[in-house]
Amino acid sequence: MAQHLDNQLLAQILDAARPLIGKGKVASYIPALAEVPGNKLGIAITTVKGERFQAGDASERFSIQSISKVLSLVLAMTRYDEDEIWSRVGKDPSGQPFNSLVQLELEQGKPRNPFINAGALVVCDMLQTRLSSPRQRMLEVVRLLSGVPSLTYDERVARSEFEHSARNAAIAWLMKSFGNFHNDVTTVLHNYFHYCALKMSCVELADTFMFLACQGCTPAWPYPVLTPQQTRQVNALMATSGMYQSSGEFAWRVGIPGKSGVGGGIIAVVPHEMSIAVWSPELDDFGNSLAGAAVLENLIAALGRSVY
Ligand code: GLN
Repeated sequence: MAQHLDNQLLAQILDAARPLIGKGKVASYIPALAEVPGNKLGIAITTVKGERFQAGDASERFSIQSISKVLSLVLAMTRYDEDEIWSRVGKDPSGQPFNSLVQLELEQGKPRNPFINAGALVVCDMLQTRLSSPRQRMLEVVRLLSGVPSLTYDERVARSEFEHSARNAAIAWLMKSFGNFHNDVTTVLHNYFHYCALKMSCVELADTFMFLACQGCTPAWPYPVLTPQQTRQVNALMATSGMYQSSGEFAWRVGIPGKSGVGGGIIAVVPHEMSIAVWSPELDDFGNSLAGAAVLENLIAALGRSVY
């Protein structure tokens, strides 16, 4: 039988996942991420009725990393026609690591989907073309959606990402060689790394992404962020590609759309009901939060929800 959603249930579910801490690895490709304590664990939920629930380290900010790929896509969907976006980036799972180059060469520089690095870089390239200040605009968007004006980029993380940018630069340049990257590579990389370096808490993430549970609408925004159809499309992409090579495994175990980041965050959506943000910095072999996925699995089982 489905259990009642309250802070106590969330605290119990976090406790059940704590034994997994120590079994994953905190991202170590930049020092700013490597030094985050591995034992952090938090969850926050915002429902479409405006209720909020939280437990653990839900108010502590962390690097949202690839969760930002959803926000950059949403921003592009408000600035471009459908065909303009999907002629440059696909909608299919890649089955490859998030920073892979192999398919790009085989598929003439068109990334499989917007939630791997190549796809997000193309999306950032599009934003550079149509926005006068893509970094400022992203800050405005997250501040409005979360209702928190103090949200900002962690400049140290952004700088550090840029100092270790060989692989993402290679991806961008390969796409440029195929004509699928139009702006200055360094400028777009800086934007992309800043988006990855957004610092947000689970509470702020759950509020920000509530529009995906609410057919594109949120009380924080004066007009719909996306149309109901666009919202379904973003959720579908999260369900099929949000967790890289383990997107199928996540659909099997958890059964709702989700998007991870190597900072250990996952944002997940129960359409028409709630947005859920979890954080646990230790990752599995695919770069997804190990305990975070287990927390979502147990929560969704306890609530008796699934989109399937
Ligand atoms: N900053 C990371 C990168 O560009 C983001 C990857 C992720 O969160 N999966 O590789």
